[in-house]
Amino acid sequence: MTQVLQAARSEFLDLFPPGAELTRLAGNFTWTEGPVWIPARGCVVFSDVRQNRTWRWTPGRGLEEEMNPSHHQNGHCLDAQGRLVACSHGERAVLRQEEDGHWTTLASEWRGQHLNSPNDVALHPDGSLWFTDPTYGIDKPEEGYGGEMEQPGRYVYRIAPDGTLSCPIVDRHKPNGLAFASATELLLADTGDDAATHLYRIDGDRAAYMRQAFRVDQGKTDGLRVDAAGRIWSSAGDGVHVLTADGEELGRILVPETVANLCFGGKDGTELFITATTGLYHFPTRVQGQSWSFS
Ligand code: MG
Repeated sequence: MTQVLQAARSEFLDLFPPGAELTRLAGNFTWTEGPVWIPARGCVVFSDVRQNRTWRWTPGRGLEEEMNPSHHQNGHCLDAQGRLVACSHGERAVLRQEEDGHWTTLASEWRGQHLNSPNDVALHPDGSLWFTDPTYGIDKPEEGYGGEMEQPGRYVYRIAPDGTLSCPIVDRHKPNGLAFASATELLLADTGDDAATHLYRIDGDRAAYMRQAFRVDQGKTDGLRVDAAGRIWSSAGDGVHVLTADGEELGRILVPETVANLCFGGKDGTELFITATTGLYHFPTRVQGQSWSFS
């Protein structure tokens, strides 16, 4: 039997309960992405981007359809009030779900032109929402409704708490997953040619390039998360790579399918939900995901 945990440093194994097992919670999807744990509902919501649906998985209830069609939603996060925020390839927009279930558009245009296809979104502790805008949702017929690229590039945008849109990062090739390591540090994965994750210094609505943070040696980093102690949990071709805040590998959770994204969740925030191609997987940990959200 292949070991699921592959330690690069011995302290890696302390991050997990003894006997931790990888469980495939659900399968038969085509491209799973964008998991987010919603404490108020006690479930994880995730996307099957290519199947044009979102799903939810609830302990004790299992898998249920969430939205069909989902207009090819991809990444999700919670805003500062705990409301669900979605990147929509099909609508080329970032949306927020209100209490009655309807969706409010937070961003769909920049300088009078449509966005490309928002991919992933993260909450900053000041309440702003930062999202990436590569072109996968208009380039790939199976991931959206098509369309022309109207922006001059693939940028990273910020939605201020008052709704004002700005565009702090314009120097990436294909910006994808993103996570705040702290209030002043953004980790940004680029799924373009360099396939690395980069560190930016954040000050309000400005971002300054610092350095390459890390690069996984199997596949690419798509989505990533940071835990409460500042460790980085990155998707990769062979599973989930766990790194120190400085980008040194601690070890990896080997998953039998390419991992696109992950989130922490469960009652105490220590359970890892992993979206990996055709499956949703679960792995228990002893650490909590970092959370800026109120709920
Ligand atoms: Mg992504």
